[in-house]
Amino acid sequence: MSTVSLSRCAGYDTDDVYDAVKRSIDLLGGMEKYVKPGMNVLIKPNLLTDSPPEDAVVTHPEVVRAVGRLVRKAGGAVWVGDSPGGYGKNIDQIFDKSGVRHIADEEDFELMKFTTATFVDGMPIAKQVFDADLVISIPKLKTHCVTVMTGAIKNTFGTVTGLYKAECHSRCPKERDLAGILVKVHSIVKPALTVVDGIVGMEGDGPSGGSPRAMNVLIAGEDAVAIDSCIAKIVGLEPLDLTVTKQAYEAGLGEADLSKIKIAGEGLDSFIAKDFKFPKTMPLRMIPNPVLRWALGFVGFKPYIDRDICVRCGLCRTACPVDCITIDESYCGIDCKKCIRCLCCHEVCPHKAISIRRNFLTKMVWG
Ligand code: SF4
Ligand code: SF4
Repeated sequence: MSTVSLSRCAGYDTDDVYDAVKRSIDLLGGMEKYVKPGMNVLIKPNLLTDSPPEDAVVTHPEVVRAVGRLVRKAGGAVWVGDSPGGYGKNIDQIFDKSGVRHIADEEDFELMKFTTATFVDGMPIAKQVFDADLVISIPKLKTHCVTVMTGAIKNTFGTVTGLYKAECHSRCPKERDLAGILVKVHSIVKPALTVVDGIVGMEGDGPSGGSPRAMNVLIAGEDAVAIDSCIAKIVGLEPLDLTVTKQAYEAGLGEADLSKIKIAGEGLDSFIAKDFKFPKTMPLRMIPNPVLRWALGFVGFKPYIDRDICVRCGLCRTACPVDCITIDESYCGIDCKKCIRCLCCHEVCPHKAISIRRNFLTKMVWG
């Protein structure tokens, strides 16, 4: 039976986070169960884009610090790495702005840039995943405009290097197709342990354009499907409402039946968030694939760049898989005829300059 541990944590005070993370992992048998002396341990947070921790876009650095300290205490060496959107070109700014570089310097953790890939089943996965003796995934509990929620399974997609992530979005604009790729990557990376930063999560138009939402929970376990099932319950969904969780469950990667998941620590019900806000794109999930591209012209959503907020950094243009964004000094805009609504641009914009706009008919139909 899969075990998921839940610990309450009120905020990001260093000692409070360390105590809560330790409690969560102790409930699973302790870090020593996973990390043996001399191991190299890769910690994979969610470092989506160039965003400060208080915006709840990235895994909070205090959670990285706490997990890293426990790894170190168990005798392991700590590596920290991710391959964010925009092909990872801005990884140095992300390490700085997220606070992860500061933590790494203080704790003597080694930062890793995922620039070299090992190909597995055609997927370019960061070489460090295979160089490490163990992977620990530290996702952020957030909404996601394509997959509704992003948590344990999706976090491993950040080990895919370079252009391939954008190519996946280009080939798979529909959630169920993208979910297949996420599940495949997860089955390759196979983190030994996942610790979800749900102390302050994100609701609304995540994974970067939503609002921080205090959830006060740390969720840990070995089974990512079981963890994402618990996240679904916390935000008011059924586990199999989430396509990524459903496909991973059907692929035999873990347990999605909450009655078969052992909850250790505090009860799941005590963390349920009332009136949790989901992305505006959620109704798109109901449109069958063959009609999606046609329907997008009538009932749909489109990304919109606010020229007054945009600082012309060009990250969205780099992330766009179909090259339909123009950014220059005098103009910034999106060619909506070419746009496939993958929302990679919205995901990577560090300035919240890209919003999601519903057209008139969509507002009429879905309110
Ligand atoms: S919208 Fe502007 S600020 Fe945002 S990523 Fe694109 S260029 Fe940068
Ligand atoms: S403009 Fe944005 S939503 Fe449209 S295809 Fe490019 S990255 Fe995707």
